[in-house]
Amino acid sequence: TKLQPVAIDEVVSDALILIGQRARKAGISIVSDVPAGVTAHSGKLRLSQVLVNLVGNAIDALRGENETAPAGAVIRICAAMEGGRVVLSIEDNGPGMGASVRDRIFEPFFTTKPVGSGLGLGLSVVDNIVRDLNGTVRVETPGPGGGARFVIELPAEAAAA
Ligand code: ADP
Ligand code: MG
Repeated sequence: TKLQPVAIDEVVSDALILIGQRARKAGISIVSDVPAGVTAHSGKLRLSQVLVNLVGNAIDALRGENETAPAGAVIRICAAMEGGRVVLSIEDNGPGMGASVRDRIFEPFFTTKPVGSGLGLGLSVVDNIVRDLNGTVRVETPGPGGGARFVIELPAEAAAA
């Protein structure tokens, strides 16, 4: 599909309309630092699908088995232009994951969630979408207890002449 100029702040608001309610119900705040003018050469709907998946996973990680997350649970969404690329990150202060989980999360059907609650497809879909958009996605996690940060890099829209 054709790539177009995509304002990242609009993608974030679209995704939050879809998933913000779930976060609020779980007592999780979402903080976003996405300046206007951060524009990717990308696909708007596909990017919002990526964000919905990543924020959904962050909510699951923060809540664990509980209906609500512990006080102080927060998801941060940041975006910036860096060296001709758009860098978009989604970070939570949940339990994070150990190396053995971290190394497998992008595999289709890999999940640590109870049977019936996760199919393990979300991150493989995210990886495929981001590749289609000529970007990369990676996870940074200092280990169990340290939270998780997903970092997406995308081609920036060339500035108008
Ligand atoms: P699912 O959500 O169905 O389990 P995903 O592909 O979306 O499948 O995620 C795969 C696994 O990656 C999850 O089961 C979980 O173990 C891990 N994971 C994803 N996001 C996070 C996160 N923010 N914090 C901790 N673990 C995570
Ligand atoms: Mg998921």
